[in-house]
Amino acid sequence: MCAKKQNESGTVPAFGLRGVGKQIAKHLARLEIYSVEDLLFHLPFRYQDRTQIEAMRLLIPGSEAVVEGVIKRVSMPQRGRTKLFCDLTDDTGTIHLRFFHVLPFQLDILKAGNRLRCYSTVRQGPSGLEMVHPEFQLIIPERQIPVDQHLTPVYPATEGLSQHMLRKLALNALVWMENENRFQELLPVSLLQSMKFPTFKEALQYVHRPPREAGIACLLENKTTPQKRLVFEELLAHRISLLQIKNAFQAQKSAQLTDGGRLSQAFRELLPFRLTQAQERVSLEIRHDLMKSHPMLRLVQGDVGSGKTVIAALAMLQAVESEFQAAMMAPTELLAEQHYRVFRRWLEPLDINVVFLSGSVKARERAAVLKSIANGRAQVVLGTHALFQEEVNFSRLALVIVDEQHRFGVHQRALLREKGMRSDYYPHQLVMTATPIPRTLAMSFYADLDCSVIDELPPGRTPVMTSVIANSRRDEVIARIRETCQQGRQAYWVCPLIEESEVLDCQAATKTAEDLQKQLPELKIGLVHGRMGSEQKEQAMRAFQQGETDLLIATTVIEVGVDVPNASVMVIENAERLGLSQLHQLRGRVGRGAVASHCLLLYQQPLSELAKERLTVMRETTDGFRIAQRDLELRGPGEVLGTRQTGELSFRVADLMRDSDILPQVHKAAELIMQQHQEMIDPLIRRWLGNKGIYGKV
Ligand code: ADP
Ligand code: MG
Repeated sequence: MCAKKQNESGTVPAFGLRGVGKQIAKHLARLEIYSVEDLLFHLPFRYQDRTQIEAMRLLIPGSEAVVEGVIKRVSMPQRGRTKLFCDLTDDTGTIHLRFFHVLPFQLDILKAGNRLRCYSTVRQGPSGLEMVHPEFQLIIPERQIPVDQHLTPVYPATEGLSQHMLRKLALNALVWMENENRFQELLPVSLLQSMKFPTFKEALQYVHRPPREAGIACLLENKTTPQKRLVFEELLAHRISLLQIKNAFQAQKSAQLTDGGRLSQAFRELLPFRLTQAQERVSLEIRHDLMKSHPMLRLVQGDVGSGKTVIAALAMLQAVESEFQAAMMAPTELLAEQHYRVFRRWLEPLDINVVFLSGSVKARERAAVLKSIANGRAQVVLGTHALFQEEVNFSRLALVIVDEQHRFGVHQRALLREKGMRSDYYPHQLVMTATPIPRTLAMSFYADLDCSVIDELPPGRTPVMTSVIANSRRDEVIARIRETCQQGRQAYWVCPLIEESEVLDCQAATKTAEDLQKQLPELKIGLVHGRMGSEQKEQAMRAFQQGETDLLIATTVIEVGVDVPNASVMVIENAERLGLSQLHQLRGRVGRGAVASHCLLLYQQPLSELAKERLTVMRETTDGFRIAQRDLELRGPGEVLGTRQTGELSFRVADLMRDSDILPQVHKAAELIMQQHQEMIDPLIRRWLGNKGIYGKV
């Protein structure tokens, strides 16, 4: 973030607020507050009720309260931590004030006979109720001070900035807001009325200074209308920015494809199975998209093993039949290579030229591949990120497919489009993911994409049984592996993810392979990890795929897409460290054949409550959508979508989980604004997303 952000009306000179000098501005910067607007958006995370003086007799330990009384007695114990202790009495009773340190000027106030108003949490002390280090104020009987009329905000603070200071600054900022006439109203009047929303300014006034009746509990849960109104506007701004990306994209021209019926027919005849109904439906949606004159932007969600690859193939055939090229990018070499094998098997019988490109393709071969991509001889291109490097020039690219890329943010998606772009048309884009995205997230985060869901698995799969096992019972697990392999089946063993370091993870995998080989001398054991060369990896994978090795030890590189139907046991060590969605992906490597499969989740004791709950979810369901939903509830959206996206998901006031109930209304409002109030689009995006909103301009 730059030191001084742009605000909605241009620039704010320095800080421009009473009470903010250099020093305070520096502290504020630590809270990412660079302008008066930022200050107004720095919302309280809780409130205190200081609007009433409580009778001492009625105080409840654990609650926060304002009391007022006269100091009856002061003692300064010589022993122990307490430096000063006094009795404060009102008409109804007495409480004690306890101080562990006192400043000289405080000694002048904390004197017998003085009248004090105090605020703090009440707690049960050794000799009755007490307040430890309360905020206190001397009351002079002739000059009574009224109690607060509003609830008191508590702000996220930082060193050097007290609550007192933050409250004062917020009040100044509110006055500034009214005087400067900033923060114009961006919601149409009709919407404010139908939602019974206050204006934006009223809402800000309210959240910084709520009336007593607001109720602290309601405020804490963000249930008051003014709070909802702010949340609403923020979600609206996000939604609109995504819709804008989508609209801008759809205003482009694409390669308009024919229906691809001939090749698709021939391909289907070669396939050893028939498509499921879900596959047919999704395929049809894509087919229609590809025949349009604006680019497709579609997300296909289908659980592991639901058969997304066939769908990709059909889409690619449509491009090929229309004499265009199609490219598919996978996140890892391993997966890209597997696609290459599968597509050659499927497409070469149809006389289609399939090529492969990744970082590890060597110079001479690379030159040949690049040439065939550039002159159009390569019809179907498979590979990794390497596909989108400068030197790769497609001759007639009409379709880009990104496989297993749920970790791709809006930014990256936009970049990809730019890359594949040609002066005369944009390629269609298909994103495929096996990480089911809970509806709330999909609606908010992938609003720029159309969505298809493959909600059915091919027939003949038996659900995977999952057990959660303490690492201390490792021997039983090893015995289980032995038995499985003796029956001619194969197993995976995924290694501990201990460090955030690939090197160490790979070392751990290597070590595990050695140990297991000693314990299972009769088995042929293979090893795959991220630091092996692609040839070595390929070899190990192929050996496993062809049944030459019985047990494959791997790091989490095999997470996505690897397909070996004969493998029926998956062991995952340190399962408690992995996210639910990732575990689900790994588990999806087994259960692809007809035999019953097992997934053994090994964990290291002791297990935290949260970890226990997560592993239980894994045991209880194999439904990817349910797992993703639980993951979302337990860990939040950033984790579910992959950390790279957390930046894009950081809201100022909204919380997708808490506020998902208003999403339908937000979506309706977004339509309204896009159609009838276009002048509000930019200000809304700028107010809530700042510079992040800019990538909307494709
Ligand atoms: P994913 O959706 O995880 O990418 P794949 O496309 O790798 O799944 O498919 C998993 C396995 O299921 C592959 O072996 C594939 O050939 C097979 N498959 C796909 N569709 C069907 C179907 N309709 N009937 C039977 N098997 C299928
Ligand atoms: Mg796949």
